[in-house]
Amino acid sequence: MVVGEMVQETELVVVGAGPGGYTAALRAAELGIQIVLVEARPFLGGVCLHEGCIPSKALLHAAEVIKEAKLASTFGLHFGDPKIDLNQLRNWKEGVTNKLAAGIVGMCKSAKVETMVGKAIFQDSTSLRVDKEGESSVRLKFKHAIIATGSRPVKLTKLFKKADDSKSSRILDSTSALTIEKIPQNLLIVGGGYIGLEMGTVYAALGSAVTVVEMTDGLLPGVDLDLVKPLANHLQTVFKQILLSTTVVSLEDVGDGVQCVFAGGEGSPKTAKFDRVLIAVGRQPNSDGLGLESTQVQLNEHGFVKIDQYCRTTDKRIYAIGDVSGQPMLAHRAMRQGQVVAEVIAGNPAAFDNRAIPAVVFTEPEIAWCGLTELEAKAKNEKIGVAKFPWSASGRAMTLAEPIGQTKIIYAPESQLILGMGVVGARAGELIAEGVLAIESGAVLEDLLVTIHPHPTLSETIAEAVAVARRREERASRSQVIKD
Ligand code: FAD
Ligand code: NAD
Repeated sequence: MVVGEMVQETELVVVGAGPGGYTAALRAAELGIQIVLVEARPFLGGVCLHEGCIPSKALLHAAEVIKEAKLASTFGLHFGDPKIDLNQLRNWKEGVTNKLAAGIVGMCKSAKVETMVGKAIFQDSTSLRVDKEGESSVRLKFKHAIIATGSRPVKLTKLFKKADDSKSSRILDSTSALTIEKIPQNLLIVGGGYIGLEMGTVYAALGSAVTVVEMTDGLLPGVDLDLVKPLANHLQTVFKQILLSTTVVSLEDVGDGVQCVFAGGEGSPKTAKFDRVLIAVGRQPNSDGLGLESTQVQLNEHGFVKIDQYCRTTDKRIYAIGDVSGQPMLAHRAMRQGQVVAEVIAGNPAAFDNRAIPAVVFTEPEIAWCGLTELEAKAKNEKIGVAKFPWSASGRAMTLAEPIGQTKIIYAPESQLILGMGVVGARAGELIAEGVLAIESGAVLEDLLVTIHPHPTLSETIAEAVAVARRREERASRSQVIKD
């Protein structure tokens, strides 16, 4: 123990107040567990609220309004070019974040969750030290601890020609990109994944000429191609260029821009200069600097904390949830794990045994999927049925002037169990919840068919895709009867 260090005992300590950490803390408090929530920064909400989900979706909403206003000219409504007041846009975005952050503080207060600002470092399997700025540290002795320290952007430090380039204000990560300090004329985005495409959509709408460089041969690797294709086609029209199978070999701040050297990619330039470069090549877990070596907690080869389905680590008193505990690094997975872990610590029967974790890319059009994908089924050699309904036949899509889209159902041909759903199109992220519920509740095709979907809505495309599946299965069984 350090001289002057205060010692405090608690039943549960949660390290990190992102969506995983604050959800676990609130549920644990509801279950009567005495708890301290430790957060390194002087605000609650984590990456999701301050530099992730919420600010990015606020800016994407602004991008959508610009697109809608342009689109309206096709049906006779002419708004002209947008006048963009960056200060006001930034203030609005920050206002949204601040209101939500105040809401979390209020919920913690009323649930009697004690919050402590400081960096937590484990001392052993039963205690951790909280280092506070300008104050003496606190030693917290705990019965249980939850690691919910999240993740941070992967840096491509090796690519910088000079050591100083990594600190250049022309090199952005998702956090600095979200501050929209300025709208660059030319923006290079390294990485064609979630962040690259969402932030590319924002900056292109605000007026930047966006180039995306992606090292694999397609955008959003791992997502079913029929979902990605309509988005990729649209992005070809709003981005300046998309360089596939291409990597960045070096980056150098040359004073009036960043000089980039590329490798690979047929037709890709060898070199080009950009006003700003956004690096969005994935995120890494915040499992270092936490003192985990003083505990029995083990990490995997990528630095993620190893957990089981109860979110237990290899140290029996310590649990881990959210980004620090592995893929998919999504806020709603962290929140569900937060609920589960609180129940487990309270001794209630609970496990992270969800069948479907939805994923949504909030681009224009949006892409959303859940459960089994076609790519996964192919890799596992699993026999599936796939039925699709194009939005060009949806009344609601037409009235919204959004005919680009498709809803797809993946099902087991014999049992007719719904195994997966994929949607590309406007508000796909809102529609996917029905697929998640269908999978979690073990629904079969018939269950969705007999469910009345409101008309005219995009949700009807789900029932229509299921109707396509039913027609196909009925035809197959008729031809089987004829053969027999
Ligand atoms: P985090 O939100 O990362 O919070 C961890 C907290 O722990 C932080 O506040 C940190 O300060 C604190 N901490 C770290 N170390 C310590 C320590 N030693 N002591 C005390 N405190 C510590 N996901 C979605 O589902 N939907 C989206 O639309 C979406 N959009 C995103 C957009 C962007 C630009 C980014 C970057 C991410 C996005 N994500 C999205 C991912 C989402 O933000 C994360 O999955 C989510 O924040 C993970 O939650 P978490 O609780 O695990 O950790
Ligand atoms: P990502 O894993 O989604 O995409 C990274 C992309 O960069 C991949 O396509 C990869 O092939 C490519 N890449 C990697 N190294 C490269 C290189 N050297 N050159 C060119 N391309 C390279 O990662 P991200 O976009 O940084 O997002 C991180 C995580 O944050 C996501 O995986 C997701 O879990 C979460 N996130 C979610 C949302 C959402 O839910 N809507 C939005 C943003 C972020």
